[in-house]
Amino acid sequence: MNPKSEIENLKSEAYALKDQLIQWRRDFHRHPELAYKEVRTSGIVAKHLADLGMEVQAGIGKTGVIGLLDGAKPGPVVMLRFDMDALPIVEANQVEYVSQNPGVMHACGHDGHTAIGLGIAQLMAKHRHELAGTLKFVFQPAEEGEQGAMAMIRDGALENPEPEVAMGLHVWNELPIGLAAIGSGGVMAAADLFTIKVQGKGGHGAQPQLCVDPVVIAAQIIVALQTVVARNVDPRQTAVVTVGMLNAGTAFNIIADSAVMTGTIRTFDPITRERIVQRVTEVVEQTARALGGSATIEIKAIAPATINDDRVARLVRETAVEVLGAEHVTADQFTMGAEDMSEFLNRVPGCFFFLGSANAERGLNAPHHNPHFDIDEDVLPMGVAVLATAALRYLTGNTAPN
Ligand SMILES: [Zn+2]
Ligand SMILES: [Zn+2]
Repeated sequence: MNPKSEIENLKSEAYALKDQLIQWRRDFHRHPELAYKEVRTSGIVAKHLADLGMEVQAGIGKTGVIGLLDGAKPGPVVMLRFDMDALPIVEANQVEYVSQNPGVMHACGHDGHTAIGLGIAQLMAKHRHELAGTLKFVFQPAEEGEQGAMAMIRDGALENPEPEVAMGLHVWNELPIGLAAIGSGGVMAAADLFTIKVQGKGGHGAQPQLCVDPVVIAAQIIVALQTVVARNVDPRQTAVVTVGMLNAGTAFNIIADSAVMTGTIRTFDPITRERIVQRVTEVVEQTARALGGSATIEIKAIAPATINDDRVARLVRETAVEVLGAEHVTADQFTMGAEDMSEFLNRVPGCFFFLGSANAERGLNAPHHNPHFDIDEDVLPMGVAVLATAALRYLTGNTAPN
């Protein structure tokens, strides 16, 4: 079969799955589960993969699931990764598939990713005889800052068999429906979480001379931190330092004893990250000391930068051009958001890309992690078509994009 008609066939099969994909996605949306609690979700995934005749391993990284689909002939292993977890958000949408789990919501689109994964599994099981190699379906828990990828890797997700390449996608409300952004190199930032504890000396609000005010110290630290990216980072690099939370004080007439701040550092380049960590630490400790108090900072790496392999990214991009049309594919999109797909891509060359899911006319364009987040479900068959075709091309040796 020539590659063109092969793509057309796979695309129409993927689009024919649309109703089923929507049904799965809405079911997951109604029953969102937080990190490492994806018991219902992973149960449905494991059963679906087993029903398709795959060898299934459950409980990888606590609630993760792996399914192996062997082709008719031997060949490389292609890993496809889908995340399953939801967020601690009260859903504000009024839709018939609204969250039935109070305070928990699929506000990042991982319900869509899981549905896309089930769809690809179903489609590729039918095309098993055409595959030279193995598809490794990895359904990951706890992507939202809880290191689910590392938990799966520690449980052997990248062994037996070892993948040669890895692919994954994120539905993306910063892009209009159907626009695929498939970059080479860095596409998502490294994320660090920092916690700053400022120690002052509490007392009466009318007697500052007897106190060391941690609120004033915290305020000075926040202002001083704004200079780190502006004055210490090479302007050709991309970085963010954000203080997201500040807690101090109990009443209007009391000078607090201490203050706590948390925030995040986002970078792509490890040397830039080191520089920022060093400067943030100095600014925090020395600003507090200059004002008569003290401060400590703890910095915890959440995820490294997501770096795409150029060869795999080109294969996925070429595939997307054929599936979606050249006018619906771009290479230049990156975000300071982070993703622990990076843990897999640090170990296996691969490609993680964004697929536009916003539809402003239908009001489906709230940002990710917003209580009004929802997607244009047309993205589901598109995701199936692009990823399934890219994987099939890799496993049929039809991998020569230029
Ligand atoms: Zn998210
Ligand atoms: Zn996400």
